[in-house]
Amino acid sequence: MVSPLSDRDIESLHAALKQRRAQVGVEVQERLHRHGLLTHEDAALPNRREETDDEAAADTAARMDIAAVAREAEELARLEGALKRLAEGEYGICTECGEPIARERLFANPAATRCAECQQFAERTDRHRKATRN
Ligand SMILES: [Zn+2]
Repeated sequence: MVSPLSDRDIESLHAALKQRRAQVGVEVQERLHRHGLLTHEDAALPNRREETDDEAAADTAARMDIAAVAREAEELARLEGALKRLAEGEYGICTECGEPIARERLFANPAATRCAECQQFAERTDRHRKATRN
């Protein structure tokens, strides 16, 4: 299945992906270097227990830090994956059904790996899994 994207589309999506990757990279850097530790080896999440005597609040803040970094790492992986598929000429093809992903969808979310239908289906089954696990 051939993607309906023109060379120009590919070019702007490529630029958008690279820009977003750089931006998320900076966000992660800033989060890990908030205490002014600018060498990579010293990167760390803030020590929330130094900021408050409230242990529960410190725990919550620490969990949120971890969740945010995990989210950013996940997005970076998605962006890397999209750039890789772009380099391999597989960009814009749904990984579930092999159909082209709608152009508007890719411009709204350049790292999308599924067409709208498969995404909806995946989200439904994911919710279902989460609901039945508890
Ligand atoms: Zn699909």
